[in-house]
Amino acid sequence: MTYDVIILGGGPAGLSAGIYASRARLSTLLIERSYPGGQLMMCENIENYPGYPGGPGMQLSEAMREQAEKFGVQSKIAEVERLDLLGLEKVLRTAEKEEIRGKTVILSLGAKPRRLGVPGENEFLGRGVSYCAVCDGAFFKDKKLAVVGGGDTAVEDSVFLTRYASSVHVIHRRDKFRAQRIIQERALANPVINVQWNSVVREISGGDAVEHLVLEDVATKEQTHLSVDGVFILIGHDPNTKMLEAQIKLDEMGYILTDENMRTNVPGVFAAGDVRHKLLRQIVTACADGAIAATAAEKYIEGSL
Ligand code: NAP
Repeated sequence: MTYDVIILGGGPAGLSAGIYASRARLSTLLIERSYPGGQLMMCENIENYPGYPGGPGMQLSEAMREQAEKFGVQSKIAEVERLDLLGLEKVLRTAEKEEIRGKTVILSLGAKPRRLGVPGENEFLGRGVSYCAVCDGAFFKDKKLAVVGGGDTAVEDSVFLTRYASSVHVIHRRDKFRAQRIIQERALANPVINVQWNSVVREISGGDAVEHLVLEDVATKEQTHLSVDGVFILIGHDPNTKMLEAQIKLDEMGYILTDENMRTNVPGVFAAGDVRHKLLRQIVTACADGAIAATAAEKYIEGSL
């Protein structure tokens, strides 16, 4: 069969696209690598999604998934290895060599955690090095932790980690956070959090698990040792667009370029959510993108867009 819409990625953008496409009575398949939800599943507390004043990301994600399924979205867990997007019919090939065909594709592939690229980072992964505070924070009860980064994730999650840790050292490469003011205020007012400005991690070391970080002052180049039991590397994400490079126009950071109707450079291929070049990567903007992408896909199939 040829689906009207194939959605690749089951975060808020993909699930919203699914709700809109299936309510438009388009046959819709949502493909996800693992359980749908994307990064939303890792958010401990969502308090800026209108109408959802506070609660776990998992709960919101689950509600979106149920809503999409209620309207008839089919979902499939598969690893897509190859995409042929340039033809009228779009063909996706999975790791199991299955071919899936669609009239349109919505790319809502999200982004993956950025790595520091320092010695010890790979070696101590799962033994003190983590990229997800909500997933791993509870393993560090009464321990000394470091958080690397100065964006919303690092600063917000440093506050979350104080539920468990005896101390949280935030290591940031500049003298200012880029996190939203309200998030910064909470972190800076927390007595368990200590910020090490203008510093970068040069090495992560230890025995069976992480024991030390080698920090370097960006101005003086002076190196110091910080004794910690774990380090959360929360320095942003890179878009999951490697396999699209030859077909889809990307910006210099690898994010997909679209117009305001979520159209990519390839007819019948749309993008939505964090994978797209845009100003604000939030649940609310991901959902909006998904709704627009599905509506644009409907109009493309009708021949009116
Ligand atoms: P981000 O905004 O890209 O911030 C990344 C942080 O890591 C920046 O402070 C950056 O430093 C630092 N960094 C990047 N590469 C580094 C490196 N190699 N070494 C050291 N530091 C490095 O990423 P994010 O915090 O994950 O947020 C992603 C998006 O999700 C944002 O749009 C954010 O607003 C959103 N978000 C929102 C909420 C919320 O509203 N509650 C919560 C979480 C995330 P510089 O500042 O020097 O560039």
